[in-house]
Amino acid sequence: MSYDTTNIFARILREELPCKKICEDANFLAFYTITPLAPVHALIIPKGAFTDAHDFNKNASEEEIVGFYKGVAKVTEILDLHKTGFRQISNCGINGGQEVPHYHIHILGGGKLGSMVSKSID
Ligand code: 5GP
Repeated sequence: MSYDTTNIFARILREELPCKKICEDANFLAFYTITPLAPVHALIIPKGAFTDAHDFNKNASEEEIVGFYKGVAKVTEILDLHKTGFRQISNCGINGGQEVPHYHIHILGGGKLGSMVSKSID
């Protein structure tokens, strides 16, 4: 899938749309989702144009990958989730339930979370 430059997160990166920012640097931007599924629910996106987890894992440079995941660590510390625990999720593609086609990680925490997936395998 080619990268859609009009997706919501690309527009947030270009500051065409607002977000409730947590922090950012050259490699990532972290902000709160508009539909929280936990007491704390943040999204972390790379600054580069990657459609999904596979695109990022395969095509991002070492600097982009390291910078991004160091950013995830920074966000969990800013949100004070690193001591009590959190869930780190990335939905990928149609079967993964990805809605926004710019790679992102969800960080959920602030309380005990339920089971990892709501639907069991039939
Ligand atoms: P996905 O389903 O792609 O893994 O997750 C997309 C996430 O982006 C969801 O948490 C959704 O609520 C969030 N989201 C969608 N549109 C916007 C928006 O305009 N602003 C913010 N802050 N989050 C959004």
